[in-house]
Amino acid sequence: MSHAVIESEEHRALRSAVAALGARYGRSYMDTVVREGKHPEELWAEAGKLGYLGVNLPEEYGGGGGGIVELSIVLEELGAAGCPLLLMVVSPAICGTVIARFGTEEQKRAWLPGLADGSRTMAFGITEPDAGSNSHRITTTARRDGDDWVLTGRKVFISGVDVADATMIVGRTEDARTGKLKPCLFIVDRETPGFGYRQIPMEVAAAEKQFELTLDEVRLPADALVGDEDAGLLQLFAGLNPERIMTAAFGLGMARFALARAVDYAKTREVWKSPIGAHQAIAHPLAQSHIEVELARLMMQKAAVLYDSGDDMAAGEAANMAKYAAGEATVKAVDQAVHTLGGNGLASEYGLASLITGARVVRIAPVSREMILNFVSHTTLGLPKSY
Ligand SMILES: Cc1cc2nc3c(=O)[nH]c(=O)nc-3n(C[C@H](O)[C@H](O)[C@H](O)COP(=O)(O)OP(=O)(O)OC[C@H]3O[C@@H](n4cnc5c(N)ncnc54)[C@H](O)[C@@H]3O)c2cc1C
Repeated sequence: MSHAVIESEEHRALRSAVAALGARYGRSYMDTVVREGKHPEELWAEAGKLGYLGVNLPEEYGGGGGGIVELSIVLEELGAAGCPLLLMVVSPAICGTVIARFGTEEQKRAWLPGLADGSRTMAFGITEPDAGSNSHRITTTARRDGDDWVLTGRKVFISGVDVADATMIVGRTEDARTGKLKPCLFIVDRETPGFGYRQIPMEVAAAEKQFELTLDEVRLPADALVGDEDAGLLQLFAGLNPERIMTAAFGLGMARFALARAVDYAKTREVWKSPIGAHQAIAHPLAQSHIEVELARLMMQKAAVLYDSGDDMAAGEAANMAKYAAGEATVKAVDQAVHTLGGNGLASEYGLASLITGARVVRIAPVSREMILNFVSHTTLGLPKSY
């Protein structure tokens, strides 16, 4: 398949270099890491050293000077090799982007080189137990105390807090406690007194764990606030759009991995006169899935190009659509891949069944399928709101 028209030579070179790295680790590496309850430290470190984790970050702070186009290529290719790095969605894509665009000079110097080479990691926490999809209801509150901030609240499902040096927490200031969300973003080091985290048992077969956070009167210096307390929404979406694009990349890499395994199997598995792939009941759903994955990739690429060009509004719409399309394509591709292998689809040896729950994450997080349909209904089509 040629990407000549869609992607530059540099992008294709990046794609094949990352694919080669992914091939050296592959699914067996990730399966072992997950089974042993470890983290993909070796792959993370090597990808960081090669500059892949920070391709989107500014060169003057140790990054590659590219954008979300490049970062999504990296994640997609690692996923297609069977070893996606989920924390790329939060650490360089959300946190790195927000700090690079809105952070102070000190924050940039303190964080970007480490995020870029992978030696430091930052998690991202917005979801709350009583807010969920409705971020306007978040209650994590920052109170001023002299020059300090004092942060109190609770978060759920926050990925990677155990390995992250800090978490970027979305809160709201005390004087904007109710009504339309006026968010503010804080960098909270993992060891800050009052910052507690507890692992949530999940059925997702991934190395990255999810945590419930308690912020109990967490005292932060003034410079823990990222950017401007009055421009929080703009800053937040500067991070959330890359998150959606990167979630699409995470899903589509997985979908490509699953489809490739299924196609290989369908070519060789013979139970009648010809390989099972000769039956259209097996071939057509795989072909359909391949088309849907390609369509979703195209929207992901569009969203990434728009984002990197600085058009946040258009990128927002495209990022939502790409995340939606990727979620649906991934769930279907993984389901069809498992089915193609018959009983082997559920055998540990083939490593496909463990992707089923991972694929569902792409439909739910970071913004659910229904909330994207709501967004498109209201914002794109101008239809009235039911809630
Ligand atoms: C593996 C995993 C990792 C995650 N990592 C992070 C992370 O690192 N940081 C972070 O902040 N969060 C993270 N999340 C949280 C994730 O973003 C939320 O789960 C997601 O936003 C949905 O919120 P919720 O779970 O509260 O569902 P709810 O908001 O309770 O929604 C439940 C269902 O109701 C539907 N629904 C809700 N409102 C409407 C409506 N108005 N119209 C129609 N349907 C509606 C939803 O579509 C969904 O199907 C993670 C989640 C998972 C599963």
